[in-house]
Amino acid sequence: MKYDVLIIGAGLGGLVCGHILSRAGLRVKVLEQGAQIGGCIQSYRRGTHDYDTGFHYVGGLGEGQSLHHVFSQLGLLSLPWQRMDTDFEHIRIGGRDFHLSQGFDCFVRDLSAEFPKEKEGICRYADLLRDTVGQQFSLLRPQGEAASPFDLFERNAWAYLNETFHDPLLIDVLSGASLKMELRKETLPLFTFCHGNGNYIESSWRLKAGGGQIAQTLAEGIRRQGGEVTCRTAVEELVERDGKIALVRCADGEAYEATTVISSIHPAQTCALVKNSQRMKTAYRHRMARLENTFGMLTVSLLLKPETLPYFNHNRYVYRRPNVWDICRPGEPVGGLMISARVPEDGSRYVCQVDLLTPIAWEECARWAETSVGHRGEDYVAWKNRKADECIALAEEAVPGLRDITERRYISTPLTYRDYTLTPQGTAYGLRKDAGDALSTLLSVRTPVPNLLLTGQNLMLHGVCGVTMTALFTCAEILGKPWMWRYVGGEEKLK
Ligand SMILES: Cc1cc2nc3c(=O)[nH]c(=O)nc-3n(C[C@H](O)[C@H](O)[C@H](O)COP(=O)(O)OP(=O)(O)OC[C@H]3O[C@@H](n4cnc5c(N)ncnc54)[C@H](O)[C@@H]3O)c2cc1C
Repeated sequence: MKYDVLIIGAGLGGLVCGHILSRAGLRVKVLEQGAQIGGCIQSYRRGTHDYDTGFHYVGGLGEGQSLHHVFSQLGLLSLPWQRMDTDFEHIRIGGRDFHLSQGFDCFVRDLSAEFPKEKEGICRYADLLRDTVGQQFSLLRPQGEAASPFDLFERNAWAYLNETFHDPLLIDVLSGASLKMELRKETLPLFTFCHGNGNYIESSWRLKAGGGQIAQTLAEGIRRQGGEVTCRTAVEELVERDGKIALVRCADGEAYEATTVISSIHPAQTCALVKNSQRMKTAYRHRMARLENTFGMLTVSLLLKPETLPYFNHNRYVYRRPNVWDICRPGEPVGGLMISARVPEDGSRYVCQVDLLTPIAWEECARWAETSVGHRGEDYVAWKNRKADECIALAEEAVPGLRDITERRYISTPLTYRDYTLTPQGTAYGLRKDAGDALSTLLSVRTPVPNLLLTGQNLMLHGVCGVTMTALFTCAEILGKPWMWRYVGGEEKLK
């Protein structure tokens, strides 16, 4: 049977594309190599508890806000979302506490009270965030002038912050909740920084009963709309004939035909799947292979003793010392982390699961890269445990006594992500975007092979919001901009 669209990978990018395209009436099949769907947002079970991996909170779900309409179209708005506190980010730097508030006006008001001399810069920054969030959809507009975010991709975020603000502590505070992106002074584009922060300042939400529901809901929607999602089906070759992908071969021996193929995996891996090609020239393959990946994450998931810690409906961040842009140094103790509490499912006022997340450079775990899960040896286990101990010790600055109330802990590293999702270097945010080289590091959804498209966090934007946005651009290549513009409620947004 020939499909209209075959999608490689059932992570968020692949599933959102599958949902939109099956809704448009196309015959869609999503092929996932793993035992379960979700990629970075899959959950796992230990004992009687589910643990999240790459999802803790999302921004912009409030009515009229950036993700509201699209999430409603995807059937995700009916999930049990819980709005976080107004002061949703608590940031502790070198022993001092600061808060960021959601809602642009509250954000300006509360931060200006803390840094009165910087009020003008804070207002300008809030306007920029508002514009960035508002511009997200404009590139889908079928006619008329679309506001291009390209200028902000070419501006360096660190340089912007230093031009706009005088107090280095304020720069730290504004960046302190940005563990959701790679804070790298040399490269991080201003657009990535504003997009990553702006959606959350619009409004911030946790999901009761975990992030795995996002993938499950999307897959159910795809099936209801006549599409298919299969696990344990690794794509191992894309066969090109007459300049187009004619066949998708899988490791289980199956082969499928499709009019269009969408790959949500790393672009270098996509290139490697196209073994013989007239279209995909060496220069394109080299360009993809040379692109650098962002850092990965180490997560310590804690199961707490019953009724020992009241639930807190905000994130907490702790930095050992000022300069939060410089905490991911190989070989050094953990310099900063995020503490996320899981919404109690039983309505209790106590939390029973807490995650600690800290960025980890690939160099730290590269020496175990050639080994597989369960065969990494004692020195890997010792390294993981040392990192987890450092995380807990630092987290105790914001949650005193955390170690004593911990019943169990589970540790995942960039290698864990690499093993489960096949993502090179276990990168948390896909390919590194470089403001100094935006042309090369921002990837198009198109490839040199006309019926092979890309999607997912490696292309333009990462995170739940970024990957969803990118999926809209991928689908627009198949369904056309007018269809997508209607789908995102474009005209309504302009009113
Ligand atoms: C620790 C961590 C915390 C995060 N927290 C948040 C958060 O709180 N909020 C937020 O918005 N974002 C968060 N993110 C980011 C977010 O999870 C990702 O940006 C997003 O899930 C990436 O989706 P994707 O579809 O691009 O990639 P992936 O999730 O990597 O999906 C790719 C899929 O392709 C499959 N695959 C690979 N090779 C093949 C093959 N050959 N054949 C078939 N299938 C294949 C993989 O198994 C995988 O399922 C976090 C990420 C991490 C790592």
